[in-house]
Amino acid sequence: MFLLNKYVLNKLILSFISLFLIISSFPSYSIEQKDYDLELQRADASRSSDPNTFTELMKVLNIKSNILTTKQKQYLNYLNAYQATYQGDYKRAENIAISILNSNADPLIKFRTKLTIINALALSQDWNKGFKYLTQVLNSLQTISNSDLHQMAYFVTTLFYNQLGQHSLALNYADKLTPKTPRRLCFKAESILLAQLKLKQLSYNDESIIDSINICNNAGELAMSSLIQTYLAQVLINEYQTEKAINLLQHNLDKVIKSQYPKAISAFSSLLAQAYWQMKDIKNTKKYALHTIEQGEKLSTTPAFISAYKILYQVTKQEGDYQKSLEYHVKFAEADKAYMDETKAKHLAYQLAAHKEFENKTHIKLLDEQNQRLTLAKALSDKKQENNLLFIALLMILLAVLAAWAYRSWKTQERLKELAEYDGLTCIYNRRHFVELARSVLLHYKKSEQELSCVVFDLDLFKQVNDNYGHAKGDQVLKAAVEVCRSIGRHNDIFGRLGGEEFGFILPGCSMMIAEDIANKCRKLIKDIDYKALGLETPITASFGVTDVIQSGFELDDLLADADCAMYASKNHGRNQVTVYKK
Ligand code: GH3
Ligand code: MG
Ligand code: MG
Repeated sequence: MFLLNKYVLNKLILSFISLFLIISSFPSYSIEQKDYDLELQRADASRSSDPNTFTELMKVLNIKSNILTTKQKQYLNYLNAYQATYQGDYKRAENIAISILNSNADPLIKFRTKLTIINALALSQDWNKGFKYLTQVLNSLQTISNSDLHQMAYFVTTLFYNQLGQHSLALNYADKLTPKTPRRLCFKAESILLAQLKLKQLSYNDESIIDSINICNNAGELAMSSLIQTYLAQVLINEYQTEKAINLLQHNLDKVIKSQYPKAISAFSSLLAQAYWQMKDIKNTKKYALHTIEQGEKLSTTPAFISAYKILYQVTKQEGDYQKSLEYHVKFAEADKAYMDETKAKHLAYQLAAHKEFENKTHIKLLDEQNQRLTLAKALSDKKQENNLLFIALLMILLAVLAAWAYRSWKTQERLKELAEYDGLTCIYNRRHFVELARSVLLHYKKSEQELSCVVFDLDLFKQVNDNYGHAKGDQVLKAAVEVCRSIGRHNDIFGRLGGEEFGFILPGCSMMIAEDIANKCRKLIKDIDYKALGLETPITASFGVTDVIQSGFELDDLLADADCAMYASKNHGRNQVTVYKK
């Protein structure tokens, strides 16, 4: 059986948290140079050290709340939530906290609000909600860099778990506490001792108990020191060090009674009753058990009261006062049941939270796996897309190669065709192509019996040009002569090099007379070339022979032979002239 006054603990927790929040006031909160900012900070700083100032400041600030900035209002709201918790108005505290958490308030204000609300929810025994916020606080720790806030969170967690009866967890979090002031050291020590007591890890001769009492006394935390004394007394009773327990309790009882704090008085009295009951000192047992329950019905479901009722029912039973014994037993049973119900609710809340945490972890694991699958699928799809792109690129390269190859081959064809059809020097038809085209035109003209003439000409004394000026000069003259003659040709005339410096025209639709005219034009043009510019001293002339289909018929060989014949006549008659063929 154990005895612990949880109301004393609650009160102390509250004062500790206020103190803690003051000590760890926000270094990262940006102080605007406005009076209200300073007023809010003053209120924040005076919360537990100077409750009267705090209450006054809060009154003024709340009256002026409508002229505060949004940020200032949120800060004020946080302080309101704190004040409501302090005043025991947990519902109001929770409502204010929810409005802050749903707003766009600074994350640090939200964090502090959660710490306050966890405390309020623990005090109002709303464990499920308390767990909800506790989980949020612990999960958000990694986003908070202020180490003081971490310490606050660890402390709130330690208290929460101790109140919930999860003392191993409380010890884990107490381990993380690194207090730097005597006061904080005292609170840490108390939390650890409470957890150890509940876990039955505490022995009456553990030096840490006396050390902790000294730490708290030195820090001026007398209420906390008394609380630790009740732990020691409890351990002494548990270990049947009854006399020591009585000495300890009696030695400090006066101070506790003077404090006029009913919860502390009932805790001491109840422990004394237990100790005297162990010693079979019925008188004192009864005295202190009654003293316990005299502290007020409000405390009836505390372990101190339960223990007192139980002892009273046993004592009265032993005395044979069955009527009284039954009455106390009824009270004991009721209080014990209420206490058990509270404990059950705590366990349920813890189980639920643990289950939720497990579910969350499982859910996260599932999400992770799903995420991995999606990542894999994406990688696959990326790879596929990459392959497709590669394939398309390859296809395009292949197409480009094919196109280049086709173009080159077409170009080659064109070149071959050009080589096959054109004369390399003068770029007019070569003899072979001239003959081919001329024959096809003649065939067509023969059928339609249309006029067609043939002109043949040969440059005069061309050998001398080569001899006098060189072959290259001769080439230049050849090209120049062809150039001028081509300029007078019509679209469907066929002009070709028949060989050496001899050329021929097929003039479809031309009568002999027109052909003669054309030949003369051509002759003049050749003679009038600017030979000086070409570097020749004397002009070059050409001799022409003309015939038509009427004179020579539609056979090309005949036409060419007759025109040639007329051309030679021109040579024979002194060159640079046109001779028309006559049968
Ligand atoms: P004729 O007035 O009787 O025609 O005298 P000709 O000197 O022109 O006659 P011939 O047939 O004796 O000489 C033709 C010359 O034309 C011979 C050859 O060297 C020259 N010849 C033929 N083809 C080319 C050519 O492609 N380039 C050059 N530079 N000369 C050529
Ligand atoms: Mg010649
Ligand atoms: Mg010749």
